[in-house]
Amino acid sequence: MAMCAAGCGSENSTAESVSESSAGTTAATTVTEAETISVSHTTQHPAKEAAEYGKVITLTFDDGPNTTCTPYVLDLLEKYNARASFFVIGNNINEESAQVMKCAYDMGNEINNHSRTHSYMNKMTAEEIKAEVEYTDELVEKYTGEKPRFFRPPYIAVNQTMFDSIDLPFINGKGCNDWDDKVSVEKRVEKVLEQAEDGAIILLHDADMNFQTVQALETIIPELQKQGYELVTLTELFFAKGITPVSDSTPKIYSNCMQEGNW
Ligand SMILES: [Zn+2]
Repeated sequence: MAMCAAGCGSENSTAESVSESSAGTTAATTVTEAETISVSHTTQHPAKEAAEYGKVITLTFDDGPNTTCTPYVLDLLEKYNARASFFVIGNNINEESAQVMKCAYDMGNEINNHSRTHSYMNKMTAEEIKAEVEYTDELVEKYTGEKPRFFRPPYIAVNQTMFDSIDLPFINGKGCNDWDDKVSVEKRVEKVLEQAEDGAIILLHDADMNFQTVQALETIIPELQKQGYELVTLTELFFAKGITPVSDSTPKIYSNCMQEGNW
C-alpha cells in the first residue's frame, strides 16, 4: 500500500515539523501556525469558475481519522484525481491519525466536524454541544491550519438547540449503511450509484478497518467519473452551484446542495 506517500509529505516540508511540534492530544490552538499555512488549497479557492463545472458530487467520509482505512481511501482519491470531504471525530485524532488527516488536507480534501465523542447531541445542553464542536474545530485547525466548514451530526440526530448552537451548515447525505459489516461490497456500490445525481452528497465511512467501503470505492469512483461526475469537496459543491449553505438557526440539513426543503 502506498500509504498516501505520493500525495503528501514530500512536497510539504512543514508537514513533519508541524506534527512533531504539536505532539499530544491537547486542543490548544496555535495561531501562528495557522497564519503561515499556504492558502492555495482547493477548499479555500476552487481552481475554476462556477460555470466551468458540470455534474458534481461530493463523497463524504465519517468517523475517521485512522491509520487503517483512511490511507486506503486517500490512495484511491489520488489514483482517480478525485477530492472528498472527511468528517472527523475529535476523539479519534491522535498523533498518528493526525498525520493522516493532515495528509488528506494537503491532497486538497476538506476536513470537517463530526463532534468530539460521537454521542447523541440532541440530548445535550447548548454548552455541551458547543464544547463538542469546539474541541474538534480546534484540533483540525491545529493540524491543518484551517477550521472545519461543515458539521455532520452523529447519527443525524438533531434538534433546534443544535441548530442554534452550531455555527456551521449541517450535512446529511445519501448513504448505503456502510457502517454495517453485513452490507456487502456489491450492495454498497449498487446503493451509491443508484442515488447519484447532480449536487448529491454521498455518506460513507472511513471508520477503522472499514475495508469493504474501500473495495466499493474501487468501483464507485471510476463509475461516477465515467458517468460524467466531477468528485469535489463540499465547499466546491456549493460553489459550483452558486449556493451559499445555510449556517444560521434554520433547521436545515443537506443531502444535496440544491435541495429546497429543510431535509
Ligand atoms: Zn458517525
